Amino acid sequence: MTNIGSTGRTGRRAGGGLVSFAAPAAERALTRMHLSPLVQAIAEPATLLMARRSRELKAQGRDIIDLSLGEPDHAPPPFALKAAHEALDGPWHKYPPVNGFADVREAIAAKFKRDNGLGYTPDQVVVSTGAKQSIMNAVLALVGPGDEVVIPAPFWVTYAEQVRMAGGTPVIVRSTIDEDYKAPIERIAAAITPRTRLLIFSSPCNPSGSVLTAAEMEALADVVARHPELYVVSDEIYEHIVFDGTHRSFAALPGMMERTITVNGLSKAFALTGWRVGFLAAPLWIAQAVTKVQGQFTSGTNSIAQRVTKACMEADPALLAGMRADFLRRRDLIVKELARVPGWRCNRPQGAFYVLPDVTASLQGRITNSVELSLHLLDHAGVSIVEGDSFGAPGTVRLSYATSDALIVAAVDRIAKAIAELS
Ligand code: PMP
Repeated sequence: MTNIGSTGRTGRRAGGGLVSFAAPAAERALTRMHLSPLVQAIAEPATLLMARRSRELKAQGRDIIDLSLGEPDHAPPPFALKAAHEALDGPWHKYPPVNGFADVREAIAAKFKRDNGLGYTPDQVVVSTGAKQSIMNAVLALVGPGDEVVIPAPFWVTYAEQVRMAGGTPVIVRSTIDEDYKAPIERIAAAITPRTRLLIFSSPCNPSGSVLTAAEMEALADVVARHPELYVVSDEIYEHIVFDGTHRSFAALPGMMERTITVNGLSKAFALTGWRVGFLAAPLWIAQAVTKVQGQFTSGTNSIAQRVTKACMEADPALLAGMRADFLRRRDLIVKELARVPGWRCNRPQGAFYVLPDVTASLQGRITNSVELSLHLLDHAGVSIVEGDSFGAPGTVRLSYATSDALIVAAVDRIAKAIAELS
């Protein structure tokens, strides 16, 4: 992995790569012999790894507060569940079209028009098994061996691994808490070479919660416009969880519609992580290539989940205001509470449901990186959080506040105590 940035230390498995969960040496030797280079090249998502570890501890009877997963704790909206029940009685039990039912793609195109001012036609939309698959499809459609993909950090862990799976090289552009975790445009521009095929980012961002301003988006569009062979994956899965102002779609900027793959889904806005629906909209030739890729992987998305998608797309987005208000209250709460943790500096995110405090003050002495710190907090404080190394942000940890106010306060109490004991 190439790294460009101000914070220096990097590495493919920066921070030791969750060594504590690694297989024993003999097993590792065997896997090296028998597993494909592709599997050996990629890492298990740090988020899922921490969730698994905390489940194991819970199974042993330990009291663990889990702030590691990126999943709204809200119940799904009743209209979505009603649509699922109705679909079961309908004619939706055979293979769906690979790119999605026509009326579902029409509803998604109408949502893009209504919420984002984007004029996609239904044949520019592809429905997939989660936004994760939408992004993988786009990467596989556009990236091959030798290609570079610019990923401003901090970034959602999966982007870099998916690029590697396609044989490409992630080019990571660093940023710090003092930059509000947004890489300055000159640094992004400097990372682009003739081999760069894609730029991938999320705004609001997982893991930082940062949101690009209109001016920052315009500056990015200017850079993209200067590189005709560069495309953009704009991951907008947190579009409905923006606290200040409204969400802006990158493709809505002048000239960017032809250069952008817009990704979204049901998981965050509708608290439907388990239904596994994501979708993208893109220039037709990219949508067709994505459909070709998907045709060899899944033959299309679960038909009942697609009927639920139609109901979600047709629902009034105003219905999501309650969830957004909950997250805003918890954002304020966790930022206030984390100020009690000795040495930690917390950002004040404008969206999503994560905070990414800088914890470098705690990385002295026997704990030297955020991987060790998050494991220490799991074992000694009973709080599960995610280390920042995997997100391209060494010296940070990610806490999800998609949980109750009481658990947020209890978790920070435990963290503050454990950190105070460290010093
Ligand atoms: N993008 C980002 C930035 C995310 O945080 C997530 C989920 N954690 C996804 C995509 C994937 O969402 P899905 O559940 O639709 O696969």
